[in-house]
Amino acid sequence: MNERDSEIISQSLSGYGYIESLDMESSDVIIINTCSIRAKAEQKVMSLLGMLKKEKKSRPELKICVAGCVAQQEGGHLLERMPHVDLVVGTQNIFDIPELLQGCSKGKKIITSMTDSYEIPRFIPEISEATITDVRRVPRPFKKFVTIMQGCNNYCTYCVVPYTRGREISRKKNDIIDEVNVLVDSGVREITLLGQNVNSYGLANKVTETDIPYSFPSLLEDIARISGLKRIRFTTSHPKDLSEDLMRCFRDIDILCHQIHLPVQAGSNAVLKRMNRKYTIGKYLQKIDVLRAYCPDIAITTDIIVGFPGETANDFEQTMILLEKVRYDGSFSFKYSDRPGTKSSELQEKVAESIKSQRLSRFQTRQDEISLEKNSAFIGKSLPVMVESCNVDNCQGRSEYNHVVHIEKNISNTPGDIVDVFIYHAGQHSLQGRIVEDT
Ligand code: SF4
Repeated sequence: MNERDSEIISQSLSGYGYIESLDMESSDVIIINTCSIRAKAEQKVMSLLGMLKKEKKSRPELKICVAGCVAQQEGGHLLERMPHVDLVVGTQNIFDIPELLQGCSKGKKIITSMTDSYEIPRFIPEISEATITDVRRVPRPFKKFVTIMQGCNNYCTYCVVPYTRGREISRKKNDIIDEVNVLVDSGVREITLLGQNVNSYGLANKVTETDIPYSFPSLLEDIARISGLKRIRFTTSHPKDLSEDLMRCFRDIDILCHQIHLPVQAGSNAVLKRMNRKYTIGKYLQKIDVLRAYCPDIAITTDIIVGFPGETANDFEQTMILLEKVRYDGSFSFKYSDRPGTKSSELQEKVAESIKSQRLSRFQTRQDEISLEKNSAFIGKSLPVMVESCNVDNCQGRSEYNHVVHIEKNISNTPGDIVDVFIYHAGQHSLQGRIVEDT
């Protein structure tokens, strides 16, 4: 989500003559697009802002902007802590950054993160000509994110998203289809549909098609008909909203990649209840079974939080048992950290840091073993791989299961081409191979 927001910021600014640069020392404007889902991400923002204090002192004309969830959450407090910041822009106002930057001259500070009521995000109106031009100008045009909804109604007790991004709202079907058409016309071959919970697309603000409710599976089917598009992915899915119709799409839609990220968070029903996740492990496992019945080779990844308040040794064992049952292809696992304003931050029975670290290490060690075992099963097989980048020595691409694949270079393919690669080596996080003609 944040990566897409950063793209939007960059696209809007390019229309005003700004040129994107990664070199902070020579930049006139520094924009830090932030995430506050974990304490560590927020700490990094604060530490970067601290470092920029000296830069601002030596170049007072430099404009520093903080955007995204930390800006939304902190608002004016951020300026109290970091007075050298010029602009604080909440999640709903990123489209306004070019105008806001013009407004904050001669030491004037602007804060736009005080929204209590959330409007339909500004990306919903038709794509402007300027955006179309920008889309064609950005690098990696073969692969893009398309936001289909924003916000979340689920209120998991550990999560700040419903407070920082607002209530769930879906884009209109035609806006999304138009955007994908523009992207495909400009050379995009793979799109990833984005939302906090894409499975509930169209439900909260009732997207309809001639008065019939229009769901995420229908959207996938319509997008798959766009000629020239080679791959579709989506993220993220809430397990409680994963419908059989959606699972069937993995069997029926040729260009839907056989990959799903299905965050479970914990293996204990007691912990899931305290997290307000609204499913049990029994229900989750049933869905995994149905999913694999429709699509036996689907790669499944997940998110895990260890050390949620009150997580006992036995609760954690349930997470390890779940890992053995599902055998995830990969996972993002973290130690629980209190986030300001969340219900879980008020829960007692905090788990000691040392125990969280031990549990995380045990989970990750076993996950790495499983990932390696699963990746090794591809050795000796050929996989279609979309080329993403090439240098003088080799190319890198992605399988439909989302493996990073390192390819021996002897090809003249360009990013976005799909080539068959014979896999001869597997690691925990990537595969290695050569183009099939050479095997
Ligand atoms: S589903 Fe839960 S974890 Fe995901 S964004 Fe919504 S509240 Fe946060």
